[in-house]
Amino acid sequence: MSDLTEHYRLLLGLDEAWIVSQVDLAVADKKVEILLTHRGGRLVCPDCGAGCAQADLAPERQWRHLDTMKFQTIVRARTPRANCPQCGVKTIAVPWADKHARFTLLFEAFAIEVLTACSNVKRAAELLGLDWQTAHGIMQRAVERGMKRRSVEEVRHVGLDEKSFGRGQNYVSVMTDLDGSRVLEVTEDRTQVAADQLWNSLPDTQRGQVLAASMDMWQPYLASTRTNVPKAEIVHDKFHVSKQLNEAVDRVRRQENKALRAEGDERLVGSKQLWLFAPRNLSRRRRKELDALKRQTLKTSRAWALKEHFRRFWRYVYTRSAAEFFEDWYGWAVRSRLQPMSDTAKMLKRHVNELLSYFRHRITNAMAEGFNSRIQEIKSAARGFHAFANYRTRILFYCGKLDLTPDLNSH
Ligand SMILES: [Zn+2]
Repeated sequence: MSDLTEHYRLLLGLDEAWIVSQVDLAVADKKVEILLTHRGGRLVCPDCGAGCAQADLAPERQWRHLDTMKFQTIVRARTPRANCPQCGVKTIAVPWADKHARFTLLFEAFAIEVLTACSNVKRAAELLGLDWQTAHGIMQRAVERGMKRRSVEEVRHVGLDEKSFGRGQNYVSVMTDLDGSRVLEVTEDRTQVAADQLWNSLPDTQRGQVLAASMDMWQPYLASTRTNVPKAEIVHDKFHVSKQLNEAVDRVRRQENKALRAEGDERLVGSKQLWLFAPRNLSRRRRKELDALKRQTLKTSRAWALKEHFRRFWRYVYTRSAAEFFEDWYGWAVRSRLQPMSDTAKMLKRHVNELLSYFRHRITNAMAEGFNSRIQEIKSAARGFHAFANYRTRILFYCGKLDLTPDLNSH
């Protein structure tokens, strides 16, 4: 038994003050129970660090430890309480677990590795023999730990993005560090308040060092950014701009299709996708269909040409050349007699400074693109009560690049 005692002493990282006084093997229950006893003597107050006398022992508590050969392993102990002249009677910190945790640090560290490797929280919880709530608690503590440790000193370019979750009626706002490719913070909703909360999550000095922020043309985000980081340049995300142009082309197609079908002309039926993708991303067969349609005098093909031509905008090296290109393109669009294209062009013109700032920073929200599919995956799991808090925890757990592991040496 003394070998086993020494084994657990080492595993739990016990200091001299603690001894393994008993190891019970309950074969039928597949359980190992380890009883730890404190030697007594001088104690350290957990609040102020003063040396104190012992008051008494707290009631027994249990912590789940790493399994021993498939045997669930439980640590049991009565923790001494210090009688601090300053702070009163306080339960001392134990070397094997965090303050209110029901697990040993080694167990938490292992659980975090399994959760990270698994990416499916439900599956990881099954492997660990934990219920969903407990697994979530471990993730939550891990995220808190990581947020306390992380540095945001290097943040220069950020992205603001909205994501829907739940049944698609709810939104969260996400702030990413575009250079560090990590999610910095997640807040509820997509209002100006939500964006303010994102900006306020950065300490004042760091906020002042942000050079540029990438976002779509969502007014609450713009207003918040102008207020909270007046020196940062706003850069409109080029993928959002493409999306706007695609939507305008689709509006033209829908109107035209309707008019043509009224005369029995089915040319545009089933053509929706042809106009939305870059031609190089279409299959050969579909590209041929597109070419055939383009040769005809259709409003949709003129709208499409406007949209495709705008791609060149992003390829300029100099802001001034890009500005000249924009003016030409704008003139073409507003004279096109295609209402959706002209409306979109006017909207882009109102934001032309934030479009041109792209050439000074060259940032897009897609720089953190890897997250989008990840956040999408996580979303499906974030339902029900506390859905937002759960969603935030998971996004930061998987996309925050945080140092999540408990510090096994600090105890
Ligand atoms: Zn004290």
